[in-house]
Amino acid sequence: MSQAKSWHGVDRDELDWFPSLDYDKCSGCGLCALTCGNNVFGWVRSEGKPRVANPKKCVVGCTTCARVCPEDAITFPSDPKDFVRKVVIRYKIFPTVKKELEVRLSTFPDHAVHQQTASVREAEMP
Ligand code: SF4
Ligand code: SF4
Repeated sequence: MSQAKSWHGVDRDELDWFPSLDYDKCSGCGLCALTCGNNVFGWVRSEGKPRVANPKKCVVGCTTCARVCPEDAITFPSDPKDFVRKVVIRYKIFPTVKKELEVRLSTFPDHAVHQQTASVREAEMP
C-alpha cells in the first residue's frame, strides 16, 4: 500500500529519506520508537527490536531518532542538509512553501508573531 503524501508539492514516494537500522548495534531500548511522532517504527515483540514499518512517513530532513539512539544504530542516506538542498534545487519547492505558509497563517492567525512581541521575547531571553 502506498504511503505517499506530498512534501511541499513533491510526491513523497520520490524522496528516499528514511532511517535504516543496524541490528548488530541495536540494543532494543525502544527510544527510537517512542521518540518518533510519525509512527515510522513498528515494534517486533518476538525480537524485542524495532522495524522501519512506515518509511515514507519519515519527515524529510529529520534525524531525531538517530540522535537519540544510544547505540548509533540508526543511519540516513546522506547528510540531511545536503539531501534537502538537492530536493529544493531539483523540484523548486519554494513557491509552494510560500503558498503553504500563507494558508497556515490564515488558518492559524496566532502563528503570526508581531515584531514588538518578538522583541519582547528576545529581551526576556537569558
Ligand atoms: S534507539 Fe537505537 S538501540 Fe534503541 S531500539 Fe532504537 S535503534 Fe535500537
Ligand atoms: S527521522 Fe524523525 S520522523 Fe523520521 S523516523 Fe526518525 S524521528 Fe521519525
